[in-house]
Amino acid sequence: ISKSCFMVIFFVISMMGKLRKPWPFSLPWELKSLDIASKLRFDPEAIKMASTDYGKVTRLVPAGVLYPSSEEDIVELIRCSYGSSSSPFSIAARGEGHSVRGQAMVADGVVINMRALSNNDGRIHVYGGSGYWYADVGGEQLWIDVLNATLDHGVAPRSWTDYLYLTVGGTLSNAGISGQSFLHGPQITNVYEMDVVTGRGETMTCSKHMNSELFYAVLGGFGQFGIITRARIALDPAPTRVKWVRMIYIDFSAFTSDQEHLITFNEGQAGKKGLDYVEGFLLMSQSPANNWRSSSFFSHTDYSRITSLATQHGVLYCLEVAKYYDPFSVDTVDKELAEMLVKGLSFIPGLIFTKDVSYVDFLNRVRSGELKLRSKELWDVPHPWLNLFVPKSRILDFDAGVFKGILQQNPDTNGPILVYPMIRSKWDDRMSAVIPDEDIFYSIGLLKSSYTNGSTDHHLELEDQNRKILEFCEEAGIMLKQYLPNYRTKGEWMNHFGPKWEVFKERKDKFDPLAILSPGQRIFNVHG
Ligand code: FAD
Repeated sequence: ISKSCFMVIFFVISMMGKLRKPWPFSLPWELKSLDIASKLRFDPEAIKMASTDYGKVTRLVPAGVLYPSSEEDIVELIRCSYGSSSSPFSIAARGEGHSVRGQAMVADGVVINMRALSNNDGRIHVYGGSGYWYADVGGEQLWIDVLNATLDHGVAPRSWTDYLYLTVGGTLSNAGISGQSFLHGPQITNVYEMDVVTGRGETMTCSKHMNSELFYAVLGGFGQFGIITRARIALDPAPTRVKWVRMIYIDFSAFTSDQEHLITFNEGQAGKKGLDYVEGFLLMSQSPANNWRSSSFFSHTDYSRITSLATQHGVLYCLEVAKYYDPFSVDTVDKELAEMLVKGLSFIPGLIFTKDVSYVDFLNRVRSGELKLRSKELWDVPHPWLNLFVPKSRILDFDAGVFKGILQQNPDTNGPILVYPMIRSKWDDRMSAVIPDEDIFYSIGLLKSSYTNGSTDHHLELEDQNRKILEFCEEAGIMLKQYLPNYRTKGEWMNHFGPKWEVFKERKDKFDPLAILSPGQRIFNVHG
């Protein structure tokens, strides 16, 4: 057989294989005749990508994956499900799949790989002048790309997540929080306008003044009402450099008092500008190698000293702050910082460490930790995370019961544990996101990672620890809210939303009445 003859036979056989491949039973035949059919993938690579996420705890297998090249493709897909003569099929937008509990997955339906849209040029536009700047960005865009594009104009978003390789649509569906939230609110309160394809397949532009119900529903709405294809993000002039400071505490009460003092520093201080970022985290005695937060901030000597103190005390607390500055404020920034930090704060004398870094390096600080973990094959491991918002009035009880209690009993907890306060008034209660009912509340991120990829034992131990933490809070009457929540019953969701549940449900009936979108959140497709 000649080579060309062999190629023809191979082509015919592979085509026959494709033709024979059965159309997924859960998808309607009409879908096959639409233009988007050629953009649907059913191959193992696409299916594998869409049936897993960063958490590596949940697996749901979709029937197919759409690689859209335009917003119209998304409209066509949703309309096909909504108007299907058989039953509607489920659809979920997938950003980077950085959820940890299958929230961007769908069993037997279609996952939209939103990142395919980023292949199109011109999905980030920056506009502005006279002090009013904004960027129109595709929902599929990564925050790192938004940062780079906006910096070209000397401006940048105000509110961030710690990690920038997340999509705009994904974080706006949750809240998008970080150390800037105390000052500017979460990312959802820094959006002017969005284009959304609803669960009825309608494209709507929404803002506080136009289709406002959809606007408020979608922000923090877990992908339940529509797919964000464009968001208009608020921008401010960008600084060039950052003073990045860490201070070590033994006493949790002193640590949280100082955090609260720093986030309210601006109030009543006319003309004085406080910090731009306030976070904090635990330093546990076992000083985990796999903690992307601690990477390369401390010198070797300082790190040894801190580790030995942590071993002595079981746990230390690290307050982390940042102040942005420009070349023209270089002379004053150190003085301002000293005034704010050295006077009157209660960290262990001498244990204050400062770095001077570029703005980009500061915002993108988690990336180097990620690359390090990847090189050790410790990034793609199970991540049974637990993220909580704890009211300020109970944060000392939480410390006693969880940080000094449950975590000490089983100190084999890999990954960063974050603790930092936020201010309720910087959030907008009309949005779907839910927070505790107190003026100040703490974000607690137990960002655990299992160090075993093959065996499930360690991951199950971490899950057990999560269960104990939630039980402890329940018994102690700590009225917390989960962030990036994971519930199993409708009752738990109703409890989560509290008085907002009825509004959330009404909005669902209005914008996605057949409950097509984001079933992986398990809000409207659970019982009990
Ligand atoms: P996905 O996980 O793909 O999707 C999340 C949900 O949003 C799904 O329900 C999906 O269907 C829906 N969705 C996705 N795109 C759209 C869209 N365009 N329109 C409508 N719905 C959509 N969060 C913080 O707030 N602060 C942090 O500092 C932070 N740090 C993180 C660090 C790491 C290493 C990781 C893995 C996550 C972090 N997160 C943080 C959590 C992150 O915000 C969520 O995982 C979020 O879901 C973003 O991930 P994604 O873009 O991959 O979205």
